[in-house]
Amino acid sequence: MKVLLLGGTGEARALAAALHPEIEVISSLAGRVPDPALPVGPVRIGGFGGVDGMRQWLIDERVDAVVDATHPFAATITAHAAQVCAALGLPHLVLARPAWTPGDAILVGSDTEAAETVAANGYARVFLTTGRSGTRAFKDVDAWFLIRAVTPPDPDTLPVDHQLLLSRGPYEYDGELALLREYRVDALVTKNSGGAMTEPKLRAAETAGVPVVMVDRPPLPAGVCAVATVEEAVDWVRAETAG
Ligand code: NAP
Repeated sequence: MKVLLLGGTGEARALAAALHPEIEVISSLAGRVPDPALPVGPVRIGGFGGVDGMRQWLIDERVDAVVDATHPFAATITAHAAQVCAALGLPHLVLARPAWTPGDAILVGSDTEAAETVAANGYARVFLTTGRSGTRAFKDVDAWFLIRAVTPPDPDTLPVDHQLLLSRGPYEYDGELALLREYRVDALVTKNSGGAMTEPKLRAAETAGVPVVMVDRPPLPAGVCAVATVEEAVDWVRAETAG
């Protein structure tokens, strides 16, 4: 039994650790960050070259099953895996961590809508946490942005008035609250990524009375089998192996 584990998340690393070395798992990373946190076991890095590239790779490597544990907003790779596995008849599972409960957040469908919401509400000092690929939509919004990302966004995508904060979670409630106060933030923009590592900013925003603009998740491809926890994914892989 050989499993391709599409990764780049803490859940993917936990799943690789739970299965290795009992089951042959090859983790795949996009290669977006220069020093990625590596899972245990074999790792390949870089895109497959679209749907056709992934299909050929799965055939060449004689993969028996695919688990997609990528980030909930990594919609392209998730769509590719669903399409290719359906075409090849490969067992396929999506491990999608539970979304956050939006509470009083203003829910929007995209980065563009989030930027429109910031402008429409006249927010002036925005904590922008949508990642390096999420800054372009805010480029022309007339506000000051505290932009937190793991790696620097392309300078062409940045709003004029900003400060860059390069860091990687997990984050703590106290630190998040201090950040909101230190920078006198009047709005937080976030994706609904879910998970505990970056959730403290939501509680800090609630304490500080800072409104939250939350980008809703892209839907999963129709008909895919999905679980919410690493434990369920482990069970699924073991059941596939046994079968
Ligand atoms: P994406 O938009 O869904 O994928 C874009 C392209 O990147 C894919 O078509 C694929 O290239 C390549 N790719 C993505 N994930 C890959 C993987 N695990 N292994 C091999 N190739 C991969 O994804 P993204 O938003 O760029 O995210 C890239 C990675 O960062 C993912 O592994 C994801 O888990 C992680 N991540 C994403 C976010 C986010 O907010 N999007 C946040 C944190 C971490 P080809 O078409 O050439 O195969």
